[in-house]
Amino acid sequence: MYNYMIKLSKRLEMIAQRVPQGSRVADIGSDHALLPTYLVQQGMISFAVAGEVNEGPRDAAQNQVRMAGLAEKISVRLGNGLAVIEPGEVETITIAGMGGSLISTILEEGKHKLTGVRTLILQPNVGEDFVRRWLDENGWLLTGETILEEDGKIYEILTATRNESDENREAFESMRGQLYAQRVIGQNGEVSLDKEMLMRLGPWLVAEASPVWVNKWQSELLKMDRVRSSMGQSEQESAKLKKESLTQEMNQIQEVLTCLQKVQL
Ligand code: SAM
Repeated sequence: MYNYMIKLSKRLEMIAQRVPQGSRVADIGSDHALLPTYLVQQGMISFAVAGEVNEGPRDAAQNQVRMAGLAEKISVRLGNGLAVIEPGEVETITIAGMGGSLISTILEEGKHKLTGVRTLILQPNVGEDFVRRWLDENGWLLTGETILEEDGKIYEILTATRNESDENREAFESMRGQLYAQRVIGQNGEVSLDKEMLMRLGPWLVAEASPVWVNKWQSELLKMDRVRSSMGQSEQESAKLKKESLTQEMNQIQEVLTCLQKVQL
């Protein structure tokens, strides 16, 4: 029995649920090492690396792991992104609570450390499309997306896998191709979604069209509208084009929401 048991936020709990049982995990940007400590305490895994680039959160992680008596199972390491792991050391990587652009930079710079990694569980706070694009361009298949609301904030969790053997390569590549293939949605009118739009909205999230996802995009539309209003009435060609493209994007998102909301009623 442990001195105390970690209780996770709903967001971290949903990330934990996606970790394959018994896999070796690296949690990058682990801060207080809540996620790896929880996973070990629950008996879901028996080895983890908690990586941190900053000394403060690294110290917090180290204290947590020591207090939980898990220093032999959770290795706390200081370093930038995937620099804290060796190739082949873990099968699962979690990166949560950062921007999507930073998450994709960490993956890009640490590509050579991904040998043997089968599952990526990524929770960008913003810029989810950066992560989807990186996964798509680097041979990963986005296998699921979850959206949730906690304390007034909306979070997306993206899970991805990849095929390292020649077996099933064709089927795997065909699934990757289908994920972002042009799609037409809507029983009440039709909207055509291209790859770029699916990358923004999330291919699995579009298919599910949950109320939280609809709320997210309704409030994104309000933000975009504010940006458009602040652009004013400039006569400059470049400003006009920017405004036009924003309007086009907003119209498309609005069309998707209208279509899918009607279906839900
Ligand atoms: N992952 C935890 C969560 O989701 O609750 C903590 C998120 S916290 C907001 C982000 C953490 O990522 C910070 O502790 C920060 O120091 C760390 N971080 C930022 N950039 C990093 C990088 N390049 N490599 C490792 N850690 C990083």
